[in-house]
Amino acid sequence: MSMQRLSILGSTGSVGTSTLDVAARHPDRFRIFALTAHRRIDRLFEQCVAFLPEVAVVGDAEGATELERKLRAARLNTEVTYGPQALSAVASASGCDSVVAAIVGGAGLASSLAAARAGKKILLANKEALVMSGALFMRTVAQHGASLLPLDSEHNAIFQCLSTGSNTKAERLILTASGGPFLQRELASLDDVTPEQACKHPNWVMGRKISVDSASMMNKALETIEARWLFDMPPERIEVLIHPQSVIHSMVAYADQSVLAQLGNPDMRTPIAHAMAYPERIESGVAPLDLTRMANLSFFAPDLARFPCLRLGLQVLRDGCTASVTLNAANEIAVDAFLREQIRFTDIARVVAQTLERLPSLAGSASLEDILAADELARATAEQFVAQQSTSRVSMAAVR
Ligand code: NAD
Ligand code: MG
Repeated sequence: MSMQRLSILGSTGSVGTSTLDVAARHPDRFRIFALTAHRRIDRLFEQCVAFLPEVAVVGDAEGATELERKLRAARLNTEVTYGPQALSAVASASGCDSVVAAIVGGAGLASSLAAARAGKKILLANKEALVMSGALFMRTVAQHGASLLPLDSEHNAIFQCLSTGSNTKAERLILTASGGPFLQRELASLDDVTPEQACKHPNWVMGRKISVDSASMMNKALETIEARWLFDMPPERIEVLIHPQSVIHSMVAYADQSVLAQLGNPDMRTPIAHAMAYPERIESGVAPLDLTRMANLSFFAPDLARFPCLRLGLQVLRDGCTASVTLNAANEIAVDAFLREQIRFTDIARVVAQTLERLPSLAGSASLEDILAADELARATAEQFVAQQSTSRVSMAAVR
């Protein structure tokens, strides 16, 4: 067993922290090469003290000065760099073997691609990167001999169900979804939900953006697109199934109608530990699954009227190419506006739908330039629709 040197991009986030928790349990296997954070300098400093990385990357020069001051006062000589290029540099550095891509949103695309180009082992949580660049990302991984291991619990489950010895191609992938906090809530009241309510997921503790995505089920839309690329599966053979208990993390159905499932407590340390040690198995810190306490495992089809974001995502999955860039960018803008209380929860789907309607999707395969151009245009367009929604919201409040 050789020492694996990790760059953890987005180490101060929910996935980043869980990754460090697993790494700390196995100091004989993992050493930290680089840690990165956007703004949370205090948290990153604490992580540097605990894990002694060679490099720490932050968002801007001001943050770098602050972190450097703290590190030197603590007599640590971690090198401090900042900005997007510094992220790509630690993702492709010869000092690391594996890259944990755990930045949230399109901000993680460039560094994830840099890791692929450098032929690294990539532990991918940053689903937005794959949604944006699908075919290009998978091609880059193959061309440069990189390996890609999914951290997203559903995709990690499918990965495990696919590697059980059979070469027979899977017939269907069944992605499970908890349905989030608003699965049963009265539809008319969805207009009034607050960011706090949307971020209160019944089963998982996650960053705020993915929590809102789970409440709208945009998360499952993104994950369906993610699964399409990761497993080279035609869209019509990917199914979404609501399973509120989040015990079965996803399933694979084969030609003989065997269905394989992966089960576990809803704790990201299980898929993270699986990917970190693959093909071996290591202890993750997660409590054993007690099936006797789970007499009720239920499953049903999602209601697309309740979850318009899922409907939009499934439509984009069929349209392909830059439509998924537009979907992702518009959603990032809309979720951010919702979290800042500029628009209502139900406006998120509205903004995404309007942006998709306004912007045509390119046919064929997209280059990185096409992707970045589509992303920029979709963000600007979605900002306009956000401004319209928030103005109508203010005027409605004035009438009341
Ligand atoms: P989070 O908000 O908790 O953490 C995000 C991390 O990214 C932080 O370290 C932050 O500093 C960094 N970051 C944010 N904006 C950045 C920018 N512009 N430039 C550089 N760094 C930036 O998010 P999370 O919940 O850990 O999710 C991270 C990714 O993993 C997302 O793509 C999410 O969809 C995916 N994911 C998360 C979970 C989960 O349980 N949290 C599960 C599956 C997949
Ligand atoms: Mg998931």
